[in-house]
Amino acid sequence: MRLQIVPFGEIPTEVLSAISEELELSFRIFSDISEPKGLPKEYYNPYRHQYVAPQILDFLFEEFKGRVLAVTDQDLFAEDLNFVFGQAQMNGRVAVISICRLNPTFYRQAFNKKLLIERAVKEAVHEVGHMAFGLTHCPDPNCVMSFSNTIFDVDRKSKEVCKSCKRKAGLFD
Ligand SMILES: [Zn+2]
Ligand SMILES: [Zn+2]
Repeated sequence: MRLQIVPFGEIPTEVLSAISEELELSFRIFSDISEPKGLPKEYYNPYRHQYVAPQILDFLFEEFKGRVLAVTDQDLFAEDLNFVFGQAQMNGRVAVISICRLNPTFYRQAFNKKLLIERAVKEAVHEVGHMAFGLTHCPDPNCVMSFSNTIFDVDRKSKEVCKSCKRKAGLFD
């Protein structure tokens, strides 16, 4: 399986390459990293200072032919949720993650590239799990497919896909 990783905004190169490496290790998905692009302004909500995640997915679906994982530095929200770390088309070909709230500086902490990379990798694997394999949220709190409501949830879970999810995805060790 192949996938295109498209940065929207200023995304550190190490974040993108770490995501690419982990997608290969976890899912045997091979990816190319594209040149950075900008998100269409019409999906920006100026009152919330956030982009509408479902509209970004529609945009990606229109704009790209194959599988795409968008990585943005802009904050995202969806329907009833104040924010989302990411969103994906289930069993589809488009997904998006935002590194905005994965960056320690968002919580007035010192910049920590290693931590940012760890978090981005987890959220990318999570969304690609929904998109490429139709995986649903996993009850195992250590599994990367467990739902993250807060940054503490992101830090708590591992970047590993649990055995049960691997089986559902048709992947075996
Ligand atoms: Zn999810
Ligand atoms: Zn799992």
